[in-house]
Amino acid sequence: MTRGSLHVHTTYCDGKNTPEENILSAIEKKFTYIGFSGHGYTDFDERYCMSKEKEAQYFEEIGRLAEKYKNQIKVFRGIEKDGLSTYDAHAYDYTIASVHYIRAGKEICEIDGGRDIQENTIKNFFGGDPYAFAEEYFRTVANQEGDIVGHLDLVTKYDKGDKIFNPGEERYKKAVLSALEILLDKNMVFEVNTGSMARGYKDRPYPDTWILEELKKRGGKVIITSDCHRAQFLDFAYEETEKMLSKIGFTNFYNIDFIK
Ligand SMILES: [Zn+2]
Ligand SMILES: [Zn+2]
Repeated sequence: MTRGSLHVHTTYCDGKNTPEENILSAIEKKFTYIGFSGHGYTDFDERYCMSKEKEAQYFEEIGRLAEKYKNQIKVFRGIEKDGLSTYDAHAYDYTIASVHYIRAGKEICEIDGGRDIQENTIKNFFGGDPYAFAEEYFRTVANQEGDIVGHLDLVTKYDKGDKIFNPGEERYKKAVLSALEILLDKNMVFEVNTGSMARGYKDRPYPDTWILEELKKRGGKVIITSDCHRAQFLDFAYEETEKMLSKIGFTNFYNIDFIK
């Protein structure tokens, strides 16, 4: 089967391996393609993203490696652009549009910085109402432009066991479904992201199964990615994710035709 991942982080941002190490791992795993998606520059938080200088080097390096390995694997040069980022300096093959921060008044709050941070954000900026927080998150998600919708329900990162959100709650469902409608209208592809499984946060990929079922009903397109931060995990949980998607009725998990 054709396999690949368009969501790969390297030492240019918060990944543990170099681009070349990831390419070699992808070749070993018999991937037909690999796409890099370094964190694009966010001026309000420089801890995880590539600096402007680093991003220019990254752009050049991925281009060089794509050429070097062109007979073994198709290498794409992408970016994971944050929903609140305005920095846009290079022409990438594709963009993953991901929300890692939301606005709360004058503050910018991190979504996936830790369970404590999420609980404090809800308490301090959303009056202790987790659904108001989720509504703001999904509004920000719906606002994005790009080719791929990154980890659609990242707000559920810390929902293992004692949950912050009840996915059966009407307000939560409504917030998700209104975002889906808008993103489907933009013809974006939804990634089914196994990254938090590799890192032990979750026992399912993003997005939740009920969201994937809604996507299927609406004719949405999906693509499996590993949001990889370690080259050995490039295909983490792919087999079980493929089975799960087949059960829902999806047949194509690695269609990259949308890349120009
Ligand atoms: Zn992300
Ligand atoms: Zn990522």
